[in-house]
Amino acid sequence: MQGFTIAFVPTMGYLHEGHISLMEKGRQLADVLIASIFVNPAQFGPGEDYDAYPRNPQKDSALAQKAGVDVLFMPEKNQLYPEKYETYITQSNLPRFLCGLSRPTHFTGVMTIVAKLFNIVKPHYAVFGQKDYQQLAIIRKMTHDLNFDIKIVGAPIVREPDGLAMSSRNKYLSPEQRRSALALSRALAQAQQSVATGEIRASALIETAQKTITSVRETAIDYVVIGDPETLEEVSVIDRPVLMALAVKVGQTRLIDNCILSPPVDKTS
Ligand code: AMP
Repeated sequence: MQGFTIAFVPTMGYLHEGHISLMEKGRQLADVLIASIFVNPAQFGPGEDYDAYPRNPQKDSALAQKAGVDVLFMPEKNQLYPEKYETYITQSNLPRFLCGLSRPTHFTGVMTIVAKLFNIVKPHYAVFGQKDYQQLAIIRKMTHDLNFDIKIVGAPIVREPDGLAMSSRNKYLSPEQRRSALALSRALAQAQQSVATGEIRASALIETAQKTITSVRETAIDYVVIGDPETLEEVSVIDRPVLMALAVKVGQTRLIDNCILSPPVDKTS
C-alpha cells in the first residue's frame, strides 16, 4: 500500500470499548487502519486460560467494521506458528517485574507475536492500551532495540461506569465476583486520593490497597507495586509521578489494573 500510512491495533479479540478506543485512535493517526485478532498461544503459560479464552469472531468483525477498521487480520494458529516454529524474542529487564514474576514466559510470547505481526502488517503506527502498562513499556523497548520503524502510541484505560477496567476476561466473573473486582479500581482511586492529600510513603499506600482488596470475597493478590514508570523498579517515596500497578485473582480470573500517582504540585518552589 505505497503512499499510504498504516495504523495497526493488535488484539486477542472478544472486543470491548477498550479495543474500540485504540481503533479510534488508530483511525486518526493514519490513512489505513489494520487490526488483528489472534489468541496467541505463546503468551499463555501452562494451566492458563488459552482454551477458555472468549472468542466471538462474527461479532468482532461487525464491531471492527463499525470502528472503521479497513483490514481485519485473523490468522490461524498454524499460519503464525507452523510445525517446528522455533524463534522467540526475549528482553533482559522489564519482563522481570510485575506480571513477569508469576508469568515468566508471557512477555516472550507477547514480543514474539507483536514482532511477527509488525513484519506482516508493516505499520507506521501501532496502538496499545495503558491497561497493559508493562506490555506497552516492553513493546516500546523492543521496537527501539530491534529498529522497527514504527511509532508506538499508548491509549488510556477505558473503564466500565463503575470503575472496573474493561477486559475480555471480565466475562469469566460471576455477579458476585464482578462486585469484588471493583476493589481493584477502588484501591487505585484511594491511593490517588491519599497522594493528592499528602501521603508520600509507598509502603503505607500499598498496605491500604492490600486491605481494600483482601476485604472483599474471593480475591487473592498477585502483586500491588508502586514503581518507576520507566524502569518499573519499586520506589519507596512518591516524590514524582509514579506507577501503581496491581494484579489480583478474583476467583480463578486474574485481573490487572494500574494508574499514575502524582504528588500535588509544590507551588512554593
Ligand atoms: P487484548 O485483546 O486484551 O490482548 O488487548 C489488546 C489491546 O487492547 C492491548 O493493547 C490492550 O492494552 C488494549 N486494552 C485492553 N483492555 C483495555 C482497556 N480497558 N482500555 C484500553 N485499552 C485496553
